[in-house]
Amino acid sequence: MATLTLDRKSALRRELEAIVGRGGVLSEPDELLVYESDGLTLFRALADFVVFPTSAEHVAALVRVAQREGMPFVARGAGTGLSGGCLPSEGGLVISLMRMNRVLEVDYDNQLAVVEPGLVNLHLSWAVGPHGYYYAPDPSSQQACTIGGNIANNSGGPHTLKYGVTVNHVLGLEVVMPDGEIVWLGGKTRDALGYDLAGVFVGSEGTFGIATKIVVRILRKPQAVKTVLAVFDQIEQASAAVSAIIARGLVPAAVEMIDQLTIQAVEDAFGCGYPRDAAAALLIEVDGLRAGIEAQCERIVDACRQSGAREVRAAADEAERQLLWKGRKSAFGAYGRVSPAYMVMDGVIPRTKLPYVLGRVNEIVAAQGLRVGNVFHAGDGNLHPNILYDPRKPGEEARVVAAGAEIMKICAEVGGSISGEHGIGLEKSDFMPFIFSAADLAFMQRLKTAFNPTGLCNPGKVFPTRKSCGEAGPVAYRPHPIEERGLAQRF
Ligand SMILES: Cc1cc2nc3c(=O)[nH]c(=O)nc-3n(C[C@H](O)[C@H](O)[C@H](O)COP(=O)(O)OP(=O)(O)OC[C@H]3O[C@@H](n4cnc5c(N)ncnc54)[C@H](O)[C@@H]3O)c2cc1C
Repeated sequence: MATLTLDRKSALRRELEAIVGRGGVLSEPDELLVYESDGLTLFRALADFVVFPTSAEHVAALVRVAQREGMPFVARGAGTGLSGGCLPSEGGLVISLMRMNRVLEVDYDNQLAVVEPGLVNLHLSWAVGPHGYYYAPDPSSQQACTIGGNIANNSGGPHTLKYGVTVNHVLGLEVVMPDGEIVWLGGKTRDALGYDLAGVFVGSEGTFGIATKIVVRILRKPQAVKTVLAVFDQIEQASAAVSAIIARGLVPAAVEMIDQLTIQAVEDAFGCGYPRDAAAALLIEVDGLRAGIEAQCERIVDACRQSGAREVRAAADEAERQLLWKGRKSAFGAYGRVSPAYMVMDGVIPRTKLPYVLGRVNEIVAAQGLRVGNVFHAGDGNLHPNILYDPRKPGEEARVVAAGAEIMKICAEVGGSISGEHGIGLEKSDFMPFIFSAADLAFMQRLKTAFNPTGLCNPGKVFPTRKSCGEAGPVAYRPHPIEERGLAQRF
């Protein structure tokens, strides 16, 4: 987008304020800085305006102004994304949904809730918890991330193994389309008629429109829950235990792995009871009917012991269970104890390849002179290598990015994928040809154009740049916006 003149910017600000009210628009550089990145701080880009609508009609009016002006716009939830998805990479309008954060309706008989997109994930479980219900998708960021952001990234979480990802819990959506029209995709019933457009929208990373209401399934809390900590002296033993548990036909609610570097950071930060000298620990949870839960636990303990666990113990009570989960869910934050910055990678591999891939990850990162901590959804084969670095050291960011690209290549080579849950965003757009052919990408591009014909809705995301497309085949894509604008990609 061409730079706005001061006069034009003032006129636009007045127009935006007329829609969302005074106090609903930010345009001063120091205010805009707050919105220049998400959880992946390697990428930064400044918007021209950040706006705070409180209704779908506001969002529609904002989108219409943006289209008239040829101004890019992007939805933003809590900004906890880890792929640069909500960055205004071509400037323009950031539409923050944080003031649209109400639970609009709860229907316990039909086990559904209608919520606004800015509702924080955990707040939905808090709202329905006293009635014995909860919302199952539980990203580790659930204390902060929004349901709108979860929809866009089709987020998962530790309990994805048994309960599935966000798309398995969404029935319908009210969406402001990129031209400002307000439509419903899906509805309140399980088997909506026609094309499954709600399914198509979930995971579209904010490039198909802006969700303004979401109908989600809520589940009854399980009768019983048991959480087991298994401690290993070798990471290979922990990896083998994951396969052994699944091979026994068990479907735990969660199987999470934490390596030594992460255990030590978590223990320094929170003292959660993980043994500091362990090479790896598994946090395994089973839930369901009270009858049978002990038997499941015993089979899990046995699988861990047979794989070489030196210690396996169940949380003695709810307080200890919560403490063990606190360690897992706060692990990313705990890296602050051992490094000034880190980059979270998100790849998927077949579970049986865990020992090989974890070994390769360590080699790749060490070859760049860096350190890596691993904490991830092992049951799903969803890896999260966290590459630690110091942005003040010249060249270190470039080495992080190089190691990250190599790790993604390995995931693709072993038959996995380049994102389990964080989305492609800006970060991994150039890696798409590791997985998709030029024809695959061109087809996806056509689908995007059907929803978003002008391309103004969250431009520059998901699809590769011209450079990497050359490697993939002769598909014409727009050049990488951040490179073009000379913004912020600081490596
Ligand atoms: C400590 C930490 C732990 C994490 N753990 C997990 C995890 O376990 N599992 C997981 O999946 N992710 C995890 N994440 C990543 C992140 O929290 C998720 O991707 C989350 O869904 C992002 O939500 P958000 O509200 O912060 O969205 P944002 O970061 O604000 O935006 C993410 C994307 O959603 C789009 N978007 C936002 N709102 C809307 C809307 N209403 N309509 C359309 N598009 C919209 C944006 O344009 C952007 O493309 C973690 C992140 C952190 C920092």
